[in-house]
This record gives sequence, structure tokens and C-alpha cells, in this order.
Amino acid sequence: MKTQYQAMGISEEVYRFGETALAGLKERFEQIDETAEYNQLKVLRAMQENKVSEACLYGTTGYGYNDLGRETLEKVYASLFHAEDALVRPQITCGTHALALALMSNLRPGDELLSPVGKPYDTLEEVIGIRPSKGSLAEYGITYRQVDLLSGGGFDYENIAKAVNERTRLVTIQRSKGYQTRPTLSVERIGELIAFIKKQKPDVICMVDNCYGEFVERLEPTDVGADMVVGSLIKNPGGGLAPVGGYLAGKKECIENAAYRLTSPGLGKEVGASLAALPSFYQGLFLAPTVTAGALKGAVFAANLYEQLGFDVLPNGSESRHDIIQAVTFHDPDGVIAFCQGIQAAAPVDSFVVPEPWDMPGYDSKVIMAAGAFVSGSSIELSADGPLRPPYTVYFQGGLTWQHAKFGILKTVQNLVEKGLIRALPS
Ligand SMILES: *Cc1c(COP(=O)(O)O)cnc(C)c1O
Repeated sequence: MKTQYQAMGISEEVYRFGETALAGLKERFEQIDETAEYNQLKVLRAMQENKVSEACLYGTTGYGYNDLGRETLEKVYASLFHAEDALVRPQITCGTHALALALMSNLRPGDELLSPVGKPYDTLEEVIGIRPSKGSLAEYGITYRQVDLLSGGGFDYENIAKAVNERTRLVTIQRSKGYQTRPTLSVERIGELIAFIKKQKPDVICMVDNCYGEFVERLEPTDVGADMVVGSLIKNPGGGLAPVGGYLAGKKECIENAAYRLTSPGLGKEVGASLAALPSFYQGLFLAPTVTAGALKGAVFAANLYEQLGFDVLPNGSESRHDIIQAVTFHDPDGVIAFCQGIQAAAPVDSFVVPEPWDMPGYDSKVIMAAGAFVSGSSIELSADGPLRPPYTVYFQGGLTWQHAKFGILKTVQNLVEKGLIRALPS
């Protein structure tokens, strides 16, 4: 094994460092496998109950009327999330689009949007109008209010209660930390927050940005009171196979509003050809629990290695996990760059390319991204990215297999050693 790694550029010292760390992770990995087992049955049950058949894999063209595969897949997602309805489409171009769709279709002029968990994901700033943008919610007279988390990561219940008012129509709760150094919210904590908000105002829509959280736990936010969950198919639920797409699952009315906005008022869910996307949507969903487990093991492994190397890691090596993202803070742009270049060098596709920081649409500082993926930009595949701004944190995620994630992480350590950014490995 050691020679195999050496042939791939991993020194004996780095390999040994990895093996020593791994020896202490057996129990964590067993727990991750158990969650995958539970969720595998959940997915299978949703597929069987909704009678997924061979005919569901064919797809439609043109208007896409009577698309059995599309309609069944949406029922499968609804069952899986224990929701009334779902919208799962290749026409939803990415996670930001799915979230924008959910917001713009369920809010009306004069309404207010509230985030009780601090600043949302960077790309939503232009959707909401925090950063002025054409067609933002702000341009349509929808206001926004935000209550930050307390310094310890807790909910600021006092100020959340004050922020909820007669115009509050929708509350957006981001499960994952995104490009921030705050804890990711467990489904249990999301449930507590929703219960509190519903007590203030029962008819408010509670939406959860579920990106990167799917299948990490046994429960999903819709199991604890969320009216709507939203996510991307080139993250966890696509299982690495979905080539594009996004989903929304939740209350019938919320989903209908979104469908009317995605296609057209009156047409809603009835149109939208699935083309050739369905086999990968179904098979990807089927694989998603185990793919997510592999990514989760990679994140836990990375946290343990980098913690031992003396870097700030979030979550730390031993705490419980609620998404697949691992943050490592270098306090040095060179660390972020070397990490991302290591991930790129471990890729099956474009491994010979060296990533550089660039001005990416939707982000307010330069970003470096490592992605040698089969599906362009897919972040359930082994990938890393970080905005080039203090405290210089890299966000690592994915790996379609645990073995690939492991190799990628060892490659980052090797690269940092070779660049002189790690002086000595713990013995
Ligand atoms: C990835 C992500 C998004 C946006 O998804 P894109 O597909 O990149 O547009 C939104 N919120 C969170 C928490 C995410 O992780």
C-alpha cells in the first residue's frame, strides 16, 4: 500500500501520519456507516412506495407533458423528505437558483424576509438585495431583516422575537455554515428554532437551505417542522451522478408557488421536459447516502490531520457533524492556495491543472477553487474552495468514494510540506 501511495507522490512520512490518525477513527466511521444504512433504506422505501419503474427512466422532450419519470421522481423526493410535494428539475440550474426560486415565488411586495442565523450564503446577497442587483427581492419591495447568531453560536432568541413582525412572511435558515466560521446547525437545533418562530407567528413559512446537509443525519429539516427544504443536485442528493439540477420539497402551496414561478403561472409542474436527465437523478439519489458517507469520512479525517498539525479546524476532530464541509483556517493565503492545489492534483479529471484565485460571479472577493470533477463544478466530488480574505479559511468537501477523499487530503498535506508551510509532522 505504501508503495502505491509513494508512486502517487505521497511520502512515507505523510502516509504514516495518515494511518496513525485513521487508527483512532474506527468508531466514528462505524457511526457514519450506520447513518448511511438507515438512509439507504429510507431512499429505497421512497422509490418502492412510489412504484419507480423502468418507464420512469425514459424522459420527455418538448413541453414535457405527462412525464411519468419526472412526476414519480418528485413523489419520491416528497416521500423521502416526508413532505407534501416536491419540485425536482434539470431546469433549476444550481443551488442559488433553487433558493432564489423558493424566495421569489413565496414572497410578495410588502413582505419581509428574516434570517435568524446571520448572513446567508454569499450568492444570496444579490438575490435578496443586500448587495444591490437587478431583479433582487429588494427591487420588488421585499425587505430583509437579519439577526446574527450569538458569539457562542447560539440563537439570539430575544432579538429574533423582536424581529418577527406583521410583515414577516418567510424565515430562511441556512443549515450549513457556507463560507463562514460558525457551527453548522443540527437538524435538532433547526427544529428548536422553527418551534420558537412558529410560536411567535404560526403562519410564517420556515425555509431551510439544505445544501450539503442531506443524508448526513437520519432526520431532515422537514421532519422537525420546516415548511420547505431547498438544495442542489450537484451536491449530496445527486450522488455525484446528477449532471445538473435543484430541488425543493415541502408544503403543497409553497411548491406550487415555486412551480408557477419556474415555468409559468397556470402551467406550473405540468411542463418541463426531463430530456435524458432522469436515470442519473434516480441512480444518483439511490447512491447518495453512501456517497455522502464517504465524503463525511473524508471531512472527519481532514479535521483530525489538520488539528494535529496545529491549524484551526471547524468542526474539530471529534465533534458531531451536520454537513459534509470541513473548514481549515490557515491565517495565510499561501495555505489556502497550497491546499486547493493539492486537492486538484488528486483529481481524476484535470489533475495536471493548477488552480489560481479569480473573481467569480456572485462572490465579493477573489475565490480559489479546486475541482477536477466529472460534473463541472460538482461539490459532492472531491473539491475545495476558499475566498481570499482573512482569516484565510479553506472549505473542503466531497469525494465520491472515501478512498479518493483520503488520497486527496494526504495530497494536500504533502503539498503543504513541500511548500514549507508545515514544518514537522507529528510523530
Ligand atoms: C452551495 C450552496 C449554495 C448555492 O449553491 P450553488 O449551487 O453554488 O449555486 C447555497 N447555500 C449553501 C449553504 C451552499 O452550500
